[in-house]
This record gives sequence, C-alpha cells and structure tokens, in this order.
Amino acid sequence: MADPAECTIKVMCRFRPLNSSEVVRGDRYIPKFQGDETVVIGGKPYVFDRVFQSNTTQEQVYNACAQKIVKDVLEGYNGTIFAYGQTSSGKTHTMEGNLHDTDSMGIIPRIVQDIFNYIYSMDENLEFHIKVMVYHVNFSLSFFLSSAVSKTNLSVHEDKNRVPYVKGCTERFVCSPDEVMDTIDEGKSNRHVAVTNMNEHSSRSHSIFLINVKQENTQTEQKLSGKLYLVDLAGSEKVSKTGAEGAVLDEAKNINKSLSSLGNVISALAEGTAYIPYRDSKMTRILQDSLGGNCRTTIVICCSPSSYNEAETKSTLMFGQRAKTIKNTVCVNIELTAEQWKQKYEREKEKNKTLRNTVTWLENELNRWRNGESVPVEEQFDKEKANAEVQALDNILNDKPASTPNVPGVRLTDVEKDKCEAELAKLYKQLDDKDEEINQQSQLAEKLKQQMLDQEELLASSRRDHENLQAELNRLQAENEASKDEVKEVLQALEELAVNYDQKSQEVEDKTKEFEAISEELNQKSSILSSLDSDLQKLKEMSNHQRKRVTEMMSSLLKDLAEIGIAVGSNDIKQHESGSGTIDEEFTVARLYISKMKSEVKTMVKRCKQLESTQSESNKKMDENEKELAACQLRISQHEAKIKSLTEYLQNVEQKKRQLEENVDCLNEELVKLSAQVSISHESKCKKGSTKLQQLTVEKQIHSHREAHQKQISSLRDELDNKEKLITDLQDLNQKIMLEQERLRVEHEKLKATDQDKSRKLHELTVMQDRREQARQDLKGLEETVAKELQTLHNLRKLFVQDLATRVKKSAEMDSDDTGGSAAQKQKISFLENNLEQLTKVHKQLVRDNADLRCELPKLEKRLRATAERVKALESALKEAKENAARDRKRYQQEVDRIKEAVRAKNMARRGHSAQIAKPIRPGQQPVASPTHPNINRSGGGFYQNSQTVSIRGGGVKPEKK
Ligand code: ADP
Ligand code: MG
Repeated sequence: MADPAECTIKVMCRFRPLNSSEVVRGDRYIPKFQGDETVVIGGKPYVFDRVFQSNTTQEQVYNACAQKIVKDVLEGYNGTIFAYGQTSSGKTHTMEGNLHDTDSMGIIPRIVQDIFNYIYSMDENLEFHIKVMVYHVNFSLSFFLSSAVSKTNLSVHEDKNRVPYVKGCTERFVCSPDEVMDTIDEGKSNRHVAVTNMNEHSSRSHSIFLINVKQENTQTEQKLSGKLYLVDLAGSEKVSKTGAEGAVLDEAKNINKSLSSLGNVISALAEGTAYIPYRDSKMTRILQDSLGGNCRTTIVICCSPSSYNEAETKSTLMFGQRAKTIKNTVCVNIELTAEQWKQKYEREKEKNKTLRNTVTWLENELNRWRNGESVPVEEQFDKEKANAEVQALDNILNDKPASTPNVPGVRLTDVEKDKCEAELAKLYKQLDDKDEEINQQSQLAEKLKQQMLDQEELLASSRRDHENLQAELNRLQAENEASKDEVKEVLQALEELAVNYDQKSQEVEDKTKEFEAISEELNQKSSILSSLDSDLQKLKEMSNHQRKRVTEMMSSLLKDLAEIGIAVGSNDIKQHESGSGTIDEEFTVARLYISKMKSEVKTMVKRCKQLESTQSESNKKMDENEKELAACQLRISQHEAKIKSLTEYLQNVEQKKRQLEENVDCLNEELVKLSAQVSISHESKCKKGSTKLQQLTVEKQIHSHREAHQKQISSLRDELDNKEKLITDLQDLNQKIMLEQERLRVEHEKLKATDQDKSRKLHELTVMQDRREQARQDLKGLEETVAKELQTLHNLRKLFVQDLATRVKKSAEMDSDDTGGSAAQKQKISFLENNLEQLTKVHKQLVRDNADLRCELPKLEKRLRATAERVKALESALKEAKENAARDRKRYQQEVDRIKEAVRAKNMARRGHSAQIAKPIRPGQQPVASPTHPNINRSGGGFYQNSQTVSIRGGGVKPEKK
C-alpha cells in the first residue's frame, strides 16, 4: 500500500496528428505545448497530469498511463481507464490500437500482456483466476452485449456489497493473453455481424472491457481481487455537428445523455455533493466504483489538433479539467482468512468494550448533569481521546488510514442503522425492479417503434403506389386525349375520303357512260359482224345445197348412163338377135342425152366455181371486216387520245385566249392613253397654230400601227393553228408508234417464251445425249471385260484339253504297262478319293468352325477383361479395408491412451480444488513477450494453450506436453 488511500482521478491528454483529410483541407494545427503538463489552446492554458503531443508513441502512452495500474490491480485495487473525446480523436487508437501489432497496439493488449507477465514473475504460492468480459453499451439497442453470448437489454444490478454488475452477462475465464485477445476478437466479430460500418458503430457505443483478477495465496489462504475497467467511450461531439436525423438523431441524443450523465456524475463528484446521479445511465452505474469510489481511475482525453474541431477540443479539455478534481478512496479488496477473522473479532470485541465503557461514562455524566450536578472538566467525557482510541482500533482492523469521509455527522444507533440499511436495501431492490421494468418498457417501446417504422414504411410504400397509380392514370388520360385527337383526325380524313370518293364515283359514272357508249358501238359492230356471219352461213348452206344437188344429178346421170349402158348391152344382144335398125336411133338419142348432160354438167361446174369464188370473196370480206374492226378499235383509242389532247389543247387555247384578251386590254388602254396624249398634243398644237396636215399624219400613223398590229396578230394566230395541227399530227403518230410498240412487245414476249421452251428442250436433249454416251462407254467396258473373260476361259479350256490328252496318253501307257495291278490301283484310287472327299469335308467343317470361333473371340476377350478388372477392384477394396482396420485399431489405441491420460489428469486435478471453469494460473512460469519487452518471444508459453496443462501444481514445472 504505497499510495495514500485517497487519490484524485488522473487525467492525461493526448493529441493525435492531423489526419490526411484535415491536411488536405488545410486545417491549422492549434495546440501549443508548454512542458509535459500544459497545453495552450486559443490563448488559454489547460493543465493535466500529463499532456501527450502528437508524436507520442503507443508505448510511451502506455508507460505513462497504464503501467502502474497493472501493479495496483494485482495488489487488489480496482482500476479504470477511460478514453474520452469526439469521434476520430483517437480513443480506439489509444485503447485498442492495432491489436496484433507490437508497435501500434494500444493500452488493452499491453495491459493484458503485462498482467500475465507480472503473474508469471510473482510468488509461486499464489494462484490466479482471471475473468474477462467485453460489452458494448449501444444506443440503438438499449444494451448490447457482444461477449461470448449475444443478448440485448441486459440490466445492471448490485451485488451484496453494492457493487454494480451486469445481470445475465457471462464472464469468461482465461489463462493466457491469447485467450483474452481471442475474446476481444470474438466480441469485435460479433459486432461486425450487427453493424457493417465498424468505425461508425464504435463511435456510437461505449465499449467496456473488464478484466477481473482474483488471487489466492495457497499457504496463507489470503484472497485478493482487483477489477480493471478499460472503457472506450462513444464520441462526445455535439448532435448539431454530426447533422444526424431521425433514428440516428435519437441515438445521438442518447449518447449525449449518457455522456452528459457521466459529466454530471463527474461534476457532482468534483463539487462534493451528497447525491451522485450514478443511476442516470447504465454506463455510470457500471462504472460507479471507478468514479468517486474504490478505484484508481485514469481518464485519457483524446483531442483533435485541427482548427476545424476547436470547439469540440475545448469542451473535451473542460471535461478533463473538471474530472481532475474528483477524489477517489481506494482500498484493497481483501478476503480475510479464518485467523484474520478471529483477530478481527477480538479487536471488534475490544472496540465494543471501549465503546461500552464510553457509553457508561457518558450515561453517568448525563445522569450527573440531569441531577443538576455540574461535572468538572477533567471528569467530562473526552471525545477526542475516545475517537482516537476507536480509530486506532479501526486502523488495526481495516489496515486503513484514520479518516472516514463518508461517516455522517450524526451517530446512529445500531437499530436505526440496521433499519436504515434494510430500508436502503429495499429501496435499491425497488430501484432494480424499476430498472427491470424500465428495461422491459423500453424494449416494448423499441418494438412499438419498430412497428411504427414498419407501418410508416407501409404507408410510404402505399403512398408511393398511389403516386405510381396516379401517374399511370395521368398517363392513361393523356393517352386518351391523344387517342381522341387521333380519332378526330381520322374522322377528318374519313370525310376527306368521302369527298374524294364522291368525286371518284362521279368520275366512274362518267367513265361508265363512256364505256356504255363504246360498248354500244361495239354491239353495233358485232351485230354487223353477226349479220355478215349469217350471210356467210347462208351462202355456205346454199353452196352445200348446190353441191348436193350436183351430186344427186351426177348420180342420176350415172344411173342413166348405166341404164344406157345396159340398154346398149341389151341392144347389142338384141342386135345380135334382131337387127341393127333401131340401134342407131337409140344411139343418137343417147348421144343427145350425153351432150345435154355434158352441157348441164358444165353449167353445174361453172355454178360451183362461181359459188366457190363467192365464198372466198365472202371470206375475204370477213377478214377485211375483222381488220376494219381492229382498225376501228385502234381508231377509237386514237380518237380517245385525241379527245384528251384536244381537251388539253382547248384548255391551253383558252388560257392563251385569256392572255391575248388581257394583252388586247392592255393595248387598248395604251391606245387610249396614246390617243389622249395625241389629243393633248393636238390641242396644244392647235393652240400654237400648227397645221392640220400634221394631225392627219399622226392619225395615219396610228392607223397604220393598228393595222400592222392586227396583221401581226393574225399571222401569229395562223402560226399557232399550224403549230397545233403539227402537234396533233405528231401526237397521233406517237400514239400509233406506241401501239405498234405494244404489239411488238407482245410478239417479242411470245418469241422469248418459245425461245425459252426451245432452250429447255435442247438442254434435255443434251442431257440425254450425255447419258447415252455414258451408257455406250459402260457397254464398251463391259464388252471388253467379257472378251477378256472369254479369252481366259478359252485358255483354260485349251489347258484342260492338253491336260486331258496327256492324261489319256499316260493312262494308255499304264494300261499297256501293267494291266494286272489296275484293279487294285483303281480300288486304291477310289479309296484315296473317298479319303480325299472326307478330308475336304472335314477341312471345310474345320474352316467353318474356325470362322465361328473367330466370331466368338472378341466377346470372350471382353468378358475376360471385365473379370480381370473386377478382380483388381476387389483386390484394392480388400487392401483398403485392411488399411482402414489398421488405422482404426491405431486410433482406438490412441483414444484409449488419451482417455487414460485424461483420467489420470482429472484425478490429479480433483486432488487440488474444483476449477471447472476457472483455470488457475501460477507464477514462476516462463514469461511471454511483453509489449514493453518485445525482444522476448511471444509464443514461448505453450503452457497456456492446452487445458490439460492447467492441472500442474507448483510453480516452475514445465508444461506436460504429450
Ligand atoms: P475514435 O475511436 O476516437 O473515433 P480512432 O481511434 O478510430 O478514433 O482514430 C481515428 C483515426 O485516427 C484512426 O485511423 C487512427 O489510426 C488515427 N489516429 C488516432 N490517433 C492517432 C495517433 N496518435 N497517431 C496516429 N494516428 C492516430
Ligand atoms: Mg472509436
């Protein structure tokens, strides 16, 4: 206990360097430093326990702010380090820094390292239990915990010693710096899940890191405990500066409320008021002990050096100044042993005795006073002396300096005290209950707010929908308007069309009329044609009739002739029989007849010829008529064209006429003018006395002019007429040429079609020719091969014949040689032949079998391959199974070993004391790297990494590694 019990809160001030955006903005660097303890801003000096300039390293800050606290905590004191300041002033940088970098790590990792290093260097009889807790007081959720478990809305309660604690927040026992860092990392990662923007979040919540160190001396059974709070407060900036709105604004207000309640607590403590409003916010309640309680507290106020943040910096510095005046009373958190309790009891008894003595003394004195006696001064109760005695006893009892600041001025009796205590406890309980209720209510409010937000969102979305629909409606209306306009336009167009239609129909009527006229003409022509046809028919009929008649007549004549012949014949016979007197007569008659007939025939033939000629004439006539008809049609079309051109011409003429009339009018006007001039000149001349001759000449001149003019006009007209005639002639010619051209085109087309047809036929023919050629060639080839074959056959035959001849010769020789053995030989031959036959049969069979087998071969090969594969697979499976079995056996063996080991370890541990969660750490171990001694290897302490190693008792034993 090196320090006095009462100590002020230490306030350190740290300025960060200008950051890049401030440099870019060209902000001024405003703080001026005077020595190690004073900073001047805007001409006003602020004095703190220590002021760190911008270039101070993390290690320097740690050494100045926190190193001593580590020792205090391990000696059983409570400690707290706050970081206060606006957002991005370097609070997190100071408290945490870069957690895993030896140079830039902040206070928390360094403290953790140092605590463990101290522990390892301390007395071997001490056993430590270290708990850590990380939580974040969040303002959008009213309380947000991001330690091992994530719960919201945890409430703060007080334990039996009235030390506030967070209810429902689980602590984690740790036994190495790495585990602590893991816990912090876990907390951070939990926070990552909740909020995406890390810095934004960290600046809007207080993050509190608590490390609780309990130690026990195994020999004396002395127990000490120290708590260390490391707090990174939320940004202290004003709401107005952040430009927050809505929910963010609410949150900012909450932050400000929380920070202002911290400020209120600090100023209440600074002014020494009786009531300290710890219960205004959860944070102040949690840190109640750190502020004006049993705690060594250090506040690091972080400031921005930029001129832009001057106001915030000043208010931060003011906060620090106020906090500097707070005084805390610290004492060791000690748990007494039985011996110590006994001693204490004895001392208490002693104290009680003295107090009772005092009471009896006082009672006696009082009685004497009451009885009207006056007590002399030396017999009166000496208050100072008695107090000193009691104090001395207290000192012995508590190991504590004499003054007790919170002792009230009036002494209460024990009963009253008890009552008071009970009342207070009740009140606190009620307060806790209320807190709980408030919590629930705030949760409810949060829920309702959420609901409201949802509803608002719904409303907004429906409003949006409504707007969308409105827009759609407007669009549709606009479309409707547009379509109406369109309809109007269409109607107008329709009207126009109707008018057009009327015009067209008028035209059509005109055309039909014209057409009718033309068709009538055609009808007339066709009727003429038909009448001509009928004439022709009649003529044909007549000619037919004539021909018939001629044939009839001819046949009758022939008959007559035949009869005549017969008669002549019979006459001959008769001549032979009777005589030839009548023959001559009859002959003459016949001749007459014949001559008559001849003449008649001649006339008939003539008639026939005549008829034929008439027929040809009529045919000719018909052709002519047809031609005429065509000519007529042509002429009609020509006429039509002519009519058109004429009408056009007429129009032209009319226009010309109008022009001419206008010209005439103009000329007339000129004439009038001229005549007027002439008359004027004439008058003037008369007046001047000019001769009449002159007047006459003028008149003559005018006359001649007029005549010339008229002549000119007439000549022009003639010319015009001529031109017109020429034009019409030319147009006619043009018409004719066009028609001719049309006809020629038609003919040309016909010719073209025939040409195409011909070419197609030609193509077919050529194709056929080609085919024929091909076939002929094939045939030739075939013939050649056939000839070759025949040749070979012929050769074979020749050979065969030769062979046969030689054989015959041979056999003849043999026959002549030995005729005796011939029978046997024959037999032999036949036998051999048989044999041969059989052999050939067998051979054939074999060949067939071979082919079959060859067919079978690939199938069998395939099957063989499959079987081989299967065998291989089975073999590999077998091997695997064997290996697995071996591995299993090994693992099983290992497991058994491990279990045995564990059982042994457990037994050993049980002999010590129950430490299921708590992992005791004993000093005397090899120290791990400290941030202040970075040359020592950090990962040197394997001891803390495995839970099995916790069981080792007695310092200095190396970890039992398997
Ligand atoms: P806060 O926690 O107050 O909102 P941060 O600690 O996050 O602010 O600091 C904001 C930025 O400024 C960080 O990028 C940090 O690295 C940097 N910074 C703060 N203090 C210092 C310092 N002393 N030296 C260098 N950089 C610093
Ligand atoms: Mg921060």
